[in-house]
Amino acid sequence: MSTLDPNDIEAKKDALIWSARRCFDLGLQTNAGGNLSVRLSAADAIVIKPSGVGFAECTRDNLQVVHLDGTIEPSSFKPSKDLDFHLNLYRIRSDINAIVHCHSPWATGFASAGLEIPCLTVQTIEKIGRMPLIPLSSNGGPQTEVEITPVFKDPSIRAAVLANHGTIGVGPTLTKAQYLAEIIEETAHIAFVRDTLMAAHGKTAADLPQYGTAMEAKAARQAS
Ligand SMILES: [Zn+2]
Repeated sequence: MSTLDPNDIEAKKDALIWSARRCFDLGLQTNAGGNLSVRLSAADAIVIKPSGVGFAECTRDNLQVVHLDGTIEPSSFKPSKDLDFHLNLYRIRSDINAIVHCHSPWATGFASAGLEIPCLTVQTIEKIGRMPLIPLSSNGGPQTEVEITPVFKDPSIRAAVLANHGTIGVGPTLTKAQYLAEIIEETAHIAFVRDTLMAAHGKTAADLPQYGTAMEAKAARQAS
């Protein structure tokens, strides 16, 4: 276990409070659900929101410091139910320094219908590529590290959506993970509007050129 730097802990807690507040203000997370975490500069410890604390109620006093071996620094709060998947993602991916997990409604609606959110905007094609859908556990329970870790073993995966549950955005910084949580929800909303309008107009495909995958788009740009 490396030594913890109190200044770093304070700065990371403040950053987490900012991110949590932003999720709440944008309607990505109400009540006390969801959770978010950020890696400390010591690299083998994180700051994470505990269980039962709302995104709008995060303070320096209730956020927890947890080592990647699972040891929790003294805290009167209960650890998040999702602590293990956060710890696992930090353990398997050194490029992940922050995780934002919200129960945002448009994205969770898509996943609960068994639909993967399509990366249909230029931004999602270029920045995300794919947002895998992770079903409930085999016994019908909520997704845990058992279902989530294998998906993130692919180093290209930055976002995923959990059926009947919520979204996960990861990033090299908290701001980037936060933006991903926002982009996932925004994309689900756009996809819903597109699909609803296409159905209302009896269309099965838009009468427009398709943007394609990020790789194809790049190849097309280079060829032109
Ligand atoms: Zn959750």
